[in-house]
Amino acid sequence: MISKMSKVKSTAVANEPVPLLDLKEQYRQISGEIREAIDRVIESQHFILGPEVEALEREVADYSQCAYGIGVSSGTDALLVSLMALDIKPGDEIITTPYSFFATAGSIARLGARTVFVDIDPATFNIAPELIEASITERTRAIMPVHLYGQMAEMDAIMEIARRHHLYVIEDAAQAIGAEYKGRRAGTIGDLGCLSFYPTKNLGGFGDGGMVTANDPELAERVRRLRNHGYSSRYYNQEVGGNFRLDALQAAVLRVKLKYLDGWTQGRQRNAESYRALFAEAQIAQETGEETRSALRSDIRLPVEARERRHIYNQFVIGSRRRDELQSFLTERRIGTEIYYPLPLHLQECFAELNYSEGDFPHSERAARQTLALPIYPELSAAQLQAVVSAIKEFFD
Ligand SMILES: *Cc1c(COP(=O)(O)O)cnc(C)c1O
Repeated sequence: MISKMSKVKSTAVANEPVPLLDLKEQYRQISGEIREAIDRVIESQHFILGPEVEALEREVADYSQCAYGIGVSSGTDALLVSLMALDIKPGDEIITTPYSFFATAGSIARLGARTVFVDIDPATFNIAPELIEASITERTRAIMPVHLYGQMAEMDAIMEIARRHHLYVIEDAAQAIGAEYKGRRAGTIGDLGCLSFYPTKNLGGFGDGGMVTANDPELAERVRRLRNHGYSSRYYNQEVGGNFRLDALQAAVLRVKLKYLDGWTQGRQRNAESYRALFAEAQIAQETGEETRSALRSDIRLPVEARERRHIYNQFVIGSRRRDELQSFLTERRIGTEIYYPLPLHLQECFAELNYSEGDFPHSERAARQTLALPIYPELSAAQLQAVVSAIKEFFD
């Protein structure tokens, strides 16, 4: 009995824990600057919108290489207020992917509009442009691509379809700040882009926050108005909006962090490269996104970088048919992982009335069964990356 317990203990301490994300380590490096920024806001006693938010809006618009940024209360509200600014009404149809975070389709449903799902490209997990056109009807108003995990969707093809059918494009860029498609940044190719500053995003605040990006001055102005109850001037309402305002404390924190974002992104990209090298060395993974037969013992699929992209690796997501077992194995070894997302949106209980069923989107359903996000945050050490790959190798041996 005693020997059994000591054996369990010895395997449990065999490796240092590798969390999925360690925000404390990031904070440790910039805490002085962050506290100064917070103090500045506290001294000003100006907490809602105001100069800090305006400064962040300019800085994020410059960073994203677009004309306007409108700070909002969350990525979810960025999506909602964008749809409102495009006059999306009950009965309208919006085309998007079923393999995303809930808010993508949730925001459409909140306006009474109908979500029309289109399956993903199994290599990139982003909406498959060649499947969009067959889903367009007289009621279709917009396409909402999601740049999943930090890699942009196939925007040329999406914009071409949208132009031909006179549809709006709203980019859900919540996971993709600074990602690029042919040199253009996430959120700036469609009519409106939606960023999230949720703490686990690459640019994360100390709470909820988001931003709408735009190039069209009228659309930007409408978003700005709707963000604050639809005021044209204070207490005079041109239309009905909401309280989607960003607060100054979040803006002050985000302004500090934005200066470090490119360095952090490079750290994530470096870690992705290290994973690829370590997996190749361990001979346990293939580079293609497709399920192929191979001589390898494992069936691990590594993330695919599509051509002409800058992938910012909000997540590093692998695939395996033995995903659930692998996740349990890694959890036992104190390696943090997460499943983004275990149930595709078309199978969510709250969307039952859309009448989709299992089998409608096989690539999304397979992704939901097989994908697993590994730790990729910039502060990971070489030893931690090695520990993750060694543990996965051990699982398949
Ligand atoms: C995080 C996220 C959102 C929502 O952002 P919040 O700031 O959490 O409201 C929307 N879409 C996607 C794809 C996301 O990852």
